[in-house]
Amino acid sequence: MKMFCVGRNYVAHIKELENEVPKSPVIFMKGENALYADNSKPYTIPAFTDDLHYECEIVLQMKKVPTAVAEAEALQFVDSISLGIDFTARDIQSQLKEKSLPWELAKSFDDAAIIGKFSDAKDLLQQENIHFELLKNGAIQQEGNSELMIYKIPYLIHFISQYFKIEEGDYIFTGTPAGVGAVKGGEELKGILEGSEVFSLKIS
Ligand code: ZN
Repeated sequence: MKMFCVGRNYVAHIKELENEVPKSPVIFMKGENALYADNSKPYTIPAFTDDLHYECEIVLQMKKVPTAVAEAEALQFVDSISLGIDFTARDIQSQLKEKSLPWELAKSFDDAAIIGKFSDAKDLLQQENIHFELLKNGAIQQEGNSELMIYKIPYLIHFISQYFKIEEGDYIFTGTPAGVGAVKGGEELKGILEGSEVFSLKIS
C-alpha cells in the first residue's frame, strides 16, 4: 500500500504558510508505517516534535489505475472516499524546508496518517463541491471544499499516474485547506465529511 499526498492545493492554506502557489502539483509520499492502525485508541504525540499539526484532507481509496490515465477517465478508478489527517511535525518541516531538504522526517514518521471510515465514492464524486470540516474539541478549525482545490481530483489522479503505479488499495491525500494548527494532549479531533463523522481521535 502506498499513500500519495498533495501539498499546497488550496490558496488560503498556501498563504497561511507563506508558500508560493505551485505551477504543478506538489506530491510527496508517506510510508505504510505512517498509517495509524486504530483510530479508537488514544493518539500519542511523538516525542521528537513540539509542534504537531493536523491537516485534514479528503482521502481517496483507489482501484488499480492505468499508467498516465486521461483526466476524463480518472474518476472511475476511485473506489471510496473519506477524510484523513496528514499529521505534520511542523517544527521539523520548517527546518527541512529552510535547507531545501526532503520532508519524510516531518510527514512520514510512524502513525503520521489518520484515515477515517470510507464510503462509496460514486455519488459524492459526481458533485463538484465536496464539503468537509475538522473539529477540535467541538469547534471548527478547518473547513474545506473540493471546488476550492487548485488541482482537482481527476487531474491529481492523472498527474500522479504519469509517475507512479497507483495500485488497488493505495490512498491519495488531496491537500489541506486553511486553518491548520497544533494539537495538544487531552484534545479531540473529529472529521466531518458532508455532515457525517468519519473519524474521531483522542489525543493522549
Ligand atoms: Zn497535507
